[in-house]
Parts: sequence; structure tokens; C-alpha cells
Amino acid sequence: MKQSNSGKKGKLFVITAPSGAGKTTIRNYLLKNHPDLYFSVSATTRQPRPGEIIHKDYHFMTPEEYDKHLEKGNFLENAEVFGNYYGTLKQPIVDRLEKGINVLLDVDTKGARQVKEKIPEAVLIFIEPPSMEELERRLRSRGTECEEVICKRLREAEFEMAQRDFFDYRVVNDVLETAQKEIENILYPKGI
Ligand code: ADP
Ligand code: 5GP
Repeated sequence: MKQSNSGKKGKLFVITAPSGAGKTTIRNYLLKNHPDLYFSVSATTRQPRPGEIIHKDYHFMTPEEYDKHLEKGNFLENAEVFGNYYGTLKQPIVDRLEKGINVLLDVDTKGARQVKEKIPEAVLIFIEPPSMEELERRLRSRGTECEEVICKRLREAEFEMAQRDFFDYRVVNDVLETAQKEIENILYPKGI
């Protein structure tokens, strides 16, 4: 992991999007191409999906373990999303930013708002699907959720889309490569 030697603090980037818009795909692209970027692994009470790796994708926790962190004030932000609890552990982020390392967060819109309140210089990026029909197609094609959960996520997407003007940047993920480059340019402006 690269560290700044100029005493400059790292930047905090937050990506958020309706479920299925392509956040994980774009996040993986950024992490693969920028190994110096630190991804904040969230805590969650949700069950792991097939293929998900413990402590890499999420810190999977029991509700009791999660509540202990909450009581101790360990979360920078936390929210209930689709019936499960998610939270960003504060200390690993503060440590990286102090060392001049850029940090990437992937949280829902409620969490992103909390981050902005606590760290106003955080850069918030909202990833939009090209249409609600395409969002539905992507959610179904991923095949990780049952019909009931897909319907819940589509209803929530309407609510999240209504908040898109709050964010510092909005990027439409239509052609994946274009969206990836656009977001990469926000994190790493050309020429810097
Ligand atoms: P999220 O993390 O926002 O829930 P994912 O990254 O899991 O979304 O993407 C949902 C599905 O859509 C995945 O199957 C992914 O491969 C696909 N996908 C992502 N971006 C695009 C795109 N620009 N065009 C077509 N399919 C996409
Ligand atoms: P999933 O369960 O599909 O991985 O994520 C569901 C939603 O929870 C996504 O919108 C994702 O961005 C959000 N999420 C993941 N981690 C966190 C977190 O630490 N805090 C908040 N507020 N939301 C999170």
C-alpha cells in the first residue's frame, strides 16, 4: 500500500447507487486498477451470498456483535438496508486518511448522507442505471436474489433515485467501460 510522504491527508470517496446499478462491478474495477486505494469493508448482519469472502466482501456479524460496535460508537455511519444492518467501521478509515491513503466506501444513500455530515470534504458519487427497466433486468440477471427481494430493491430504487441531486457527482452506468472511466477520472483526475 502506497503512503504519502508529503503529510497530505487521503481523500474519502463514497459511491452509492440503487441495488443492481453496477456499484460492485465498478468498485472492483477501481480496486483492480488502483491498488493504492483502500476499500472500507463494511460490517453487516446479512448472510453471505455464495462466493462472498468473509472480511473481504463484508465483516459478517451476528446482530449481537453488530450491536456491540454500535454501542461503542465504532461506526462512522450505519443504516438498515433491506431488513439487514450495515455499518462502516470508523477507525480503519481514519488511520488510512491520516496516512495520506485514499479510501473508497460503498454505502446506501442514507449512509452516504451521514458520511457527508461528519466529513464534509468526502466526495459523493451516485451511480445511476440508464433506466428502471434496465435496473430490473440487471437485478434479475445477477440471479442472487429471490423475486420478493428484487421487488423490494426496485421499490427502494425509486426512493434512492429521487435523492440523486444531493450527490457531488452523478454518473450513468449505461456502457460499463464509459462509466468506469468517468468515475476513475473523478478519483484520479487526468494529469494528476
Ligand atoms: P450493485 O453492486 O450496484 O448491486 P452489480 O455490480 O452487482 O450491482 O451489477 C448488477 C448486475 O448488472 C451484474 O450482473 C453486473 O454484471 C451487471 N452490470 C453492471 N454494469 C453493467 C452495465 N453497464 N451494462 C450491463 N450490465 C451491467
Ligand atoms: P448488498 O447486501 O447487496 O451487498 O448491499 C445492499 C446495500 O447496502 C447496498 O446499497 C450497499 O451499498 C449498502 N451497504 C453496504 N455496506 C454498507 C455500509 O457499511 N453502510 C451502509 N449504510 N450501507 C451499506
